[in-house]
Amino acid sequence: MERLNGWWCAERDRIARTLADFVRIDTTAPNEPAAIPFLQRYLGPLGFTLVERPIPDLFWSHPERCPPPLSRLTYGRTLLRAHRPGRAGGGHLAVNCHLDVVPLTEGFGDGFQPVVAGGRVTGRGAADTKGNLVMMAETVRFLDHAGRPPGCELTLDLVAEEETGGNGALASALAGLDADCALVLEPTGLEVFCGHRGCVTFEARFSAHATHMGSASGPPTSAIDLAILGIAALRRLETRMIADAAGDPLFEGWSRPLQINVGRIEGGEWHGSVPARCRIVGNCGFLPCHGLDGARSMLEETLAAVVADVPGAGVELRWPGLRNEALAGDPAHPFAAALAAAAGQGPIRAWNVSCDGRHYGRTLGLPTAIFGCGRLDQAHAEGETLDLADLARGIAILADVLGGAGWRGRPA
Ligand SMILES: [Zn+2]
Repeated sequence: MERLNGWWCAERDRIARTLADFVRIDTTAPNEPAAIPFLQRYLGPLGFTLVERPIPDLFWSHPERCPPPLSRLTYGRTLLRAHRPGRAGGGHLAVNCHLDVVPLTEGFGDGFQPVVAGGRVTGRGAADTKGNLVMMAETVRFLDHAGRPPGCELTLDLVAEEETGGNGALASALAGLDADCALVLEPTGLEVFCGHRGCVTFEARFSAHATHMGSASGPPTSAIDLAILGIAALRRLETRMIADAAGDPLFEGWSRPLQINVGRIEGGEWHGSVPARCRIVGNCGFLPCHGLDGARSMLEETLAAVVADVPGAGVELRWPGLRNEALAGDPAHPFAAALAAAAGQGPIRAWNVSCDGRHYGRTLGLPTAIFGCGRLDQAHAEGETLDLADLARGIAILADVLGGAGWRGRPA
């Protein structure tokens, strides 16, 4: 640790400048490839070889693929990985790091002009999750410098579109990855997770019988009224789904392990007419015990019940965005356990946020840990910032595991 402190003091300013250079590249989807020249310059001298490969045909018809227009992945785009060989028998660790960042907002228009000050790097993606690629790369540099290079082969899976549904990691997983376990880099505040909740985007289109407002009788039954009743029913569904978490030890300790968020409402035609149409769009978080299909069924049943007794009314459900399955991983796996021990953490639980972990844990069947520097409340935030001390602590934890006695590659 003492050795790391000295190295960190000598390297901190260079590391901050490197992260700033990375943040300066606008990698909002579909611009992720804009980072390739930077990645070649940065990772090449650390022994990584960048490889591009085609997106497998299976991807385009996969049921968990997030559809366009939210997804911008098109034919001709490639998958990007960086490989670094390890020692024979040292195992193979796949490391997911998404290259995309969420778009800038009005209050953060200069988010691609990073600021290094006060021991922090501020800019879009500093916390989510460019700081974590830097944390990983600098761990390798430190271990090389300290004369105990990582024994395991490393594959950095540098994926697109994590923020818009995980299509990059899905495509990569479908292409196959011969690793022993996976590490997904996200701003977890240095907590190690072994799973995460799922998330599905829903669009509910309510319809009702349009008529003159003066001819309406009985309880309110316009499409807008029905949408309001639907939103209230979704709130009750969220309470029921949260109660289900009480039976899942992986989700212990979260006051709100999942959320149903109605993010958009649009409806009505003419202010003197009873509205015939109203649509709501939102995201529904769910637990592994619900699953993607189960969550969809619960949404369908909940909203169908709202219109069931209303003559001439209907509701149609669509799935225009995220189709992120939930992941329940193994908290006892030696890699996750070694990371948690190095982080000085107690029991390993699952994250109340969705991420690419599912594609490694479910699609590839790999033991998967989710971990990284940066705080979740900084991710996607205006003024997004990363404390460099947090990044240094992340290097210490990873170095302990990759270069020390914690995890020596292939699990027994
Ligand atoms: Zn992220």
